[in-house]
Amino acid sequence: MFRVGIGYDTHRLVEGRPLVLGGVPVPFDRGSDGHSDGDALTHAIADAILGALCEGDLGVHFPDSDTQWKDADSMQLLSRVVWLAHERGFEIENIDANVMIERPKLRPHVDAMRANLARVLNIEAGGVSVKAKTGEGLDAVGRGDAVTAQAVVLLKQTSSVRASTGGTTKQI
Ligand SMILES: [Zn+2]
Repeated sequence: MFRVGIGYDTHRLVEGRPLVLGGVPVPFDRGSDGHSDGDALTHAIADAILGALCEGDLGVHFPDSDTQWKDADSMQLLSRVVWLAHERGFEIENIDANVMIERPKLRPHVDAMRANLARVLNIEAGGVSVKAKTGEGLDAVGRGDAVTAQAVVLLKQTSSVRASTGGTTKQI
């Protein structure tokens, strides 16, 4: 059995914050505002996996109100979401993602993002697509005010759901 999921995330770009995408620190004079490290790409992918599992979204599992997630490493959040998928008997088949940012150029960093994500997703880098786009000078991305990411994921069931979870929602 296969399950498909879609994820979306956007963060305001502000001075004094690091820009981290797919777990890769990207040199730039501004970065993502947000409670965690603001890694929009990783958040969109995690949300896509949660969506495929019908498990709500990142905000449900890692609430802003919980100080333990302040400045959290989003790759660790993604790792917990992948663990949940495995608990439910699913493996990641492939991911396709778009990252939209006006500057800086992301292309030199895309392969490092794919390798990072593939390691946490427990799949080959050949199953992780990351496409860098600009906003063509339009909207919040185009004005350089935001970074946005979209992702779709395909999950493949490799084992039946473990009795311990019973298909019920469980805090990860
Ligand atoms: Zn986010």
